[in-house]
Parts: sequence; C-alpha cells; structure tokens
Amino acid sequence: MPTGVVMDRLLSASEAIINGKRTVTAGTHNYLGLAFDEACIEAAVAAVRAEGTGTCGSRIANGSFSDHVALERELAAFHGMAHAMVFSTGYQANLGVISTLVGAGDFLLLDADSHASIYDACKQTQASAIRFKHNDPASLDARLRRLSDQPGVKLVVVEGIYSMLGDIAPLRDIVAVAKRHGAFVLVDEAHSMGVLGERGCGLAEQEGLLGEVDFVVGTFSKSLGAIGGYCVSDHAQFDILRLACRPYMFTASLPPATVASVRAALAAVRERPGLRARLWRNTRRLYDTLTAAGFQLGPTPSPIVAVCLPSDEITMAMWRALLDDGYYVNIGLPPATPSGESLLRCAISAAHSDAQIDGLADALIRLGRAFGVLPDVRCAAAL
Ligand code: PMP
Repeated sequence: MPTGVVMDRLLSASEAIINGKRTVTAGTHNYLGLAFDEACIEAAVAAVRAEGTGTCGSRIANGSFSDHVALERELAAFHGMAHAMVFSTGYQANLGVISTLVGAGDFLLLDADSHASIYDACKQTQASAIRFKHNDPASLDARLRRLSDQPGVKLVVVEGIYSMLGDIAPLRDIVAVAKRHGAFVLVDEAHSMGVLGERGCGLAEQEGLLGEVDFVVGTFSKSLGAIGGYCVSDHAQFDILRLACRPYMFTASLPPATVASVRAALAAVRERPGLRARLWRNTRRLYDTLTAAGFQLGPTPSPIVAVCLPSDEITMAMWRALLDDGYYVNIGLPPATPSGESLLRCAISAAHSDAQIDGLADALIRLGRAFGVLPDVRCAAAL
C-alpha cells in the first residue's frame, strides 16, 4: 500500500532506497530539488549549532527569534507585499488565516476542488462556506450575485496549481469577478510558488495580479524543501492576525534550522531562475512523451503530471509495478480525487535527470500497454 512505503535511505533529491532497491522518487514535491541543496543544508546546520534544535514554544508566549522576523521581511519583499506571517505548517497557514479573516455573517467562496486545509478552515469559522464549480468564474459569479444584498465580508479562496490534476486556476477571471462583487481574494500558492512567475512568486505574479490579490498563502514544504507556511498581504491591519489566529498563537514556532534553510531556499528561488527552467524542461519532457503515447493527463502541463487510469484496480497494480521497476509516484483514488478519477501522480523536480524522466516515461508506457490502458503497438503492428 502507498501509505506503507518506507524510504530506507535517501540518496539525493531524486533517489531513495525503497524495499532495498534504488528508486527514483517522483512522488515528493521537492520541485526545485532544494531539500538536498548544499547551501540550504549548510544554513540549517549552522543554525542548529548556534540556536539549538527548537524554539520550545509559540511566538506570543516565548517571543520570536530574529530569524523568524527576517524570514517574514524577506517573504513580504519577495511578493512585493507589506506584511508577512510565518506558520509552523502550510496546513496551519490556511487553517488560521482563512478561519480568522471571516466570521459570523461573512461568506467564504471556495473552489470545489480545494485542499483539505481550506475545507478544514471552513469548519473552524462561523462564516457560511459556499462552493463554486472548479475553475469556473461564471459559477463564482452566480454565487456572488445571490449574495449581493448581504452585508458580510466575502472571501474567495482559490489555489494556483491544484494538487490532484496539476491544473491551474483562471486567476484573472476569478479576480475580475471577485472585484466586481467587492469580494476579497486569497490564493493558495502551495504548488505554484517557486514554479510559476518570472521571479517564482506564483500564479498571481505570472498573471500580473500581485497588486490585485488580497492574500497569498504559501508553504515551505514543496519548492522550499522544508516545512512551514506563510501568508503575505498589503492589508493595513494584517498584523492583528497575530493576536487572533489560533493556529499561529497556540503552537510552537518553526525551529531555527528550518527557518535558516527556508531563507537559503528563498534566496535560491530569487537568484537561481535556472532551477525553475530545469523544472519546466523536465515537466514538458514527461508531459509531452506521455501525451504522445496516448495517456490521458491533467489538462495543462505542470510539475504535477497526473496520469488518469480506467479503474482503481489498474491504478493500484500499475503503482505497485512501477515501484518494483524502481519508480516511486503518488496514487490518487476517490474520494480524494476531484471527480472520482483514479490516477498516478508524478511530481517532477528540477533535480531529475533526463535519464530519470525518460526512464519513468518508458516504464509508464510499458505498463500502460501491459495493463491494456494504451494500445499494444506490437499487436497493432501484427494486424
Ligand atoms: N495547500 C495545498 C494546495 C496543499 O496541497 C497542501 C499540502 N499538500 C497544503 C496547503 C498544506 O501544506 P503543508 O503540507 O506544507 O502543510
């Protein structure tokens, strides 16, 4: 079972020993390979030596380390926003920010395919949560129109890249609809920060909307190769969240080693655009090869390459066979997938070599033929 996979030993950003076998890891979200970056590791080691292994408490109780504050300053500057708040996970960033920004009498409008952390935030607030159809600005428009005589705050929540199918939000149209109805917009850039935009800020940057989006949430657990989350905003009263947001207030702050590696990783996103270029080159290489072979993939190329398969049984069997072949990918089965798809999810990294990408594509195509998902070219040629 996928939940039972143990990486006996990590060899690099793209390889591990699993079940005693050298395996290409294409099921982590180490998009830029920075979890094994020398500068990030050195920064973490120096911080743990200088400041210890943990902060042993929350920032409101124990105070902040200067590095927490420096990281927040750097994140705000990176996104060109005035304020930033760092959380102990990306999950808590969504949970805390979304549930605190809106309350009784307010409205949360969320894309139907939202991540669990966004759905869980809805359970933590007295605001009314209303879903609109995935990536459908007209559906959002219809929902907001029905709320036009309601005085409460309206907050629209979308993601930059959606984690199951790797598809991208039509952010320009979503923002236009939201603004027309006086609604605020929050974009979760968990999978798009470091991946999209000329500077790697995410979808809002790519679409030229950084000045229009009210809140951006991100995580340190994907492109930045660590753990933690953040929110940035230009909102004048943003810092009130520090005294109202329970998932920020009542948990221990990020340890020094994590803050240090994240600062080094953020510098890498800023200063090494070649990593992003390499990530996209690898992504297109896999996406194009699998498309040409006849697989049905997510609708747009992104570093999450989702291979849609006809049944849960075939998906499980192909996942197992891929692992036996030395390729570790994720599995997506209903009810976790948006429309009940069964899929294998490949998470591509800048750290993958051409040989690893081609090897994964070859293994998928071979298994696709063996399991009858793709036409068997040998049989077709014999007819
Ligand atoms: N938002 C999205 C869209 C995610 O996919 C995830 C994690 N997969 C999170 C938030 C939570 O981030 P983290 O795992 O860093 O807590």
